[in-house]
Amino acid sequence: MVFQGLPVSRGIAMGRSFVYAPFKIKIGESYIGNAEKAEHNARFNEAVKKAAAELRELQEKMAEEDPDKAGIFEAHEDILTDVAIIEEILKLINEESYAGGYAIEQVYEKYVHIFAEMDDDIMRERCADFRDVKDRILRIWAGVEQKNLSELDFPAIIFARDLLPSDTATLNRNNVLAIVTETGGNTSHSAIIARSYEIPALLGITGIMNSVRDGMTAVVDALDGNVILEPGEAEQAGYLQKQADYNRTAEEIRKFRSVEPVMADGTPIDVFLNIGSVSDEELEASAFTGGVGLFRSEFLFMQGKNLPGENQQFQVYKKAVEVYGTRQVILRTLDIGGDKTFESMDLPEEDNPFLGCRALRLCFQKTDVFKTQLRAALRASSYGNLALMFPMVGSLEDLHKAKYYLEECRTELESEGVPFNKNMSVGIMIEIPAVAVMADLVVHEVDFASIGTNDLCQYLMAVDRLNPNVAAYYQSYHPAMFRLIHNAARVFEKEGKSLSICGEMGGDPMAVMAFIGMGIKKFSMAASNVSGVKRIITRLTMTRARELADKLRLLSTAPRIEDLLKTEMERLIAQ
Ligand code: PEP
Ligand code: MG
Repeated sequence: MVFQGLPVSRGIAMGRSFVYAPFKIKIGESYIGNAEKAEHNARFNEAVKKAAAELRELQEKMAEEDPDKAGIFEAHEDILTDVAIIEEILKLINEESYAGGYAIEQVYEKYVHIFAEMDDDIMRERCADFRDVKDRILRIWAGVEQKNLSELDFPAIIFARDLLPSDTATLNRNNVLAIVTETGGNTSHSAIIARSYEIPALLGITGIMNSVRDGMTAVVDALDGNVILEPGEAEQAGYLQKQADYNRTAEEIRKFRSVEPVMADGTPIDVFLNIGSVSDEELEASAFTGGVGLFRSEFLFMQGKNLPGENQQFQVYKKAVEVYGTRQVILRTLDIGGDKTFESMDLPEEDNPFLGCRALRLCFQKTDVFKTQLRAALRASSYGNLALMFPMVGSLEDLHKAKYYLEECRTELESEGVPFNKNMSVGIMIEIPAVAVMADLVVHEVDFASIGTNDLCQYLMAVDRLNPNVAAYYQSYHPAMFRLIHNAARVFEKEGKSLSICGEMGGDPMAVMAFIGMGIKKFSMAASNVSGVKRIITRLTMTRARELADKLRLLSTAPRIEDLLKTEMERLIAQ
């Protein structure tokens, strides 16, 4: 069986299928009669035993591979077997006639709320543990098998209807051979993470969940966009050959990873890194990148079920700036909303989340969360070269309001005698077209800006970046995109202020050639794109790049622009 999808992270994988459907249960108020109590007692005790067995098995498995995770599962077992909690649940069943599931939900939620109110960050983090244990025991109560990406303990191809950024942020990436989903587009955050982890991914395959089963052998060809379920032997051999050829070419390109990003005529270009955490794996790329051009801070909020407190955030931001030393780290303030939602925040359901209360708009509603982050960032600024960037700025009022809260935090810290860098650079993302159009007005009010091409394209083209039905309309190479970016580039160059590209186009060597010709000299990208971009930079001259930008300006459609860029890139590579 062959299926076609949108390849969003290149590569070829072959292996066993793992069908991922996260367990979600809504427990409503529910009571039982006396006759059912004995059964609910027994079923609850059985569920505790089964959950304890699962947790012990996980501890054993993780003991060597990931001792920290093993420790977490041990703590979960302590919560699960806590005598007081068990007694409370049984009491609700026996004395108040609560149905077992409802009793479990009530007692665990009580503890979640108690811990959530605590001042101490570490104690507050315990909420997440209580929720995890509650989810585990309710899942067993409902008779559903365990399925969790962070606990995946064998190499597998993940099939899912949809993968949320929070799923991908916690997945055990060593065991993920490839990702296949029914929804999602090239700039969905799952696609972005797959690329940065170099996991082959195919999205937008409607209906594949009806055909795939756990354990099936599958091939994912994320070069040509095919998924094959239960391939024959000859087919498997063909794909193994294709995989070997692809890996060889990728290895060739990887040789450029550590070269200096200097153009053939000596012009230096900044190649910066996009990160979502300060894990050793992500920061490994600090060895071959000039700074961090985009730290997507919201991923820190997606890793647990609680909001990270000021100290926890401070430690993370401090680690990033310390690793990069004098090199710049641009921290983007929270960009929640759109496809990025959190368990730790009660966000209202919206019909059009990408057009809704997202990023700064949400921060203006939840000013305590916003200010906690700003304080943590300011404190970290005294440990290195930290810059702050506001996402989804749509007007000067947005910018003024964000700066107002920043000023409040500065004043607070000053009165508390806490040190911070008073000259920290403050910039914005240009990703709402309105702000791109008025770049000449904005430029005077910021120290720098960075273009978020993912959202800029989504909003300029009126195309939901997640919707596979309209993926063909999401044209990054649309002439309007280049015109808008060229306009901003001219304005920032004239004012002598830094303008970078940190959306996915910043890691696309074809687009980078044109942007250089438009005067942009700073690009921030996933680690996996660094080699390809550096290879092109080292072969390009400024004269050639300008000629390319001039030619591009005369073209009227995305396919024509793509052809031009492709031809130019092939010419450079062949040199
Ligand atoms: C962008 O929109 O281009 C961007 C970099 O931000 P995000 O992808 O996180 O929305
Ligand atoms: Mg964006």
